[in-house]
Amino acid sequence: MIVVTGATGQLGRLVVEGLKEKAGADRVVAAVRAPEKAADLGVEVREAHYDRPETLKAAFAGAEVVLLISGTDHGNRVRQHSAVIDAAKEAGARVVYTSAPYADTTTAKLVGEHRATETYLRASGVPFTILRNSWYHENYQASIAHAPQAGAIFGAAGEGRVASAARADYAAAAVAVLTGEGHTGETYELSGDTAWSLTELAAAISAASGTAVTYTDLPEAEFAKVLAANGLPEAVAGLLADVDTHIAQGWLERTPGTLAALIGRPTQPIGDYMKTVI
Ligand code: NDP
Repeated sequence: MIVVTGATGQLGRLVVEGLKEKAGADRVVAAVRAPEKAADLGVEVREAHYDRPETLKAAFAGAEVVLLISGTDHGNRVRQHSAVIDAAKEAGARVVYTSAPYADTTTAKLVGEHRATETYLRASGVPFTILRNSWYHENYQASIAHAPQAGAIFGAAGEGRVASAARADYAAAAVAVLTGEGHTGETYELSGDTAWSLTELAAAISAASGTAVTYTDLPEAEFAKVLAANGLPEAVAGLLADVDTHIAQGWLERTPGTLAALIGRPTQPIGDYMKTVI
């Protein structure tokens, strides 16, 4: 049995769909904190709240493998993820964890909780696979959508390059690892096949929309203010602006090709994604 946590999230839903096709719905359990949101998933639903270990124990009963989709509660995630790993261990399951790029070496603040989770997982003795998902194309959805009207996209990434990929491609990789052999003990750096700069993205939006769009590079603190003004909590805005500084330094530019190899096809180019948004 394959258990997917965070199955009502955007990545989790895609993984469940993929697993239904590849493994069959009867082998899949959606482990979610809000079961009422999971009625449409078409698989068995169990309650699993990262803050309530007793739900995790019951949710993982009979699991061969648990996909731990990293949570969203910044500052509490190491404790939460550790509870999931403990429960998976008790169930005798292996764990597949969605981490972040180069989690062992980057100084990007957003990644600290992923690094700590990886450390806990490695020390737990549980058989594991780590999926270090790079940036989603979808992280740029709002920027792309508003760009023709605003005439600009904003960031603090300079000419740094981003090897992003579609959420659906990361989901397909998770399905491949959850259903395939030989992935135990592996840490996969997953990225899109090509890396692009925000200047190039602005040019592509201009060409596709027929409206001039430029990339406006801001100092990190200014970009954090723009993100906060657009509704992000201040702490998260700060973390994302810090991400851009690391992008400027080359953090997300590498294209090892591992994602394409796992899914058996090229990753979706950002240009194709962009056209679905504008
Ligand atoms: P979503 O926000 O769509 O989904 C997050 C999921 O985590 C939801 O299903 C949510 O439950 C679940 N969750 C959060 N807190 C808890 C908790 N305490 N107990 C149980 N479940 C919890 O994000 P995505 O699916 O798009 O991405 C998956 C993860 O990847 C994110 O959670 C984040 O850690 C990370 N991420 C990575 C990005 C990247 O570019 N690599 C970009 C954005 C996120 P519910 O459905 O009830 O809300």
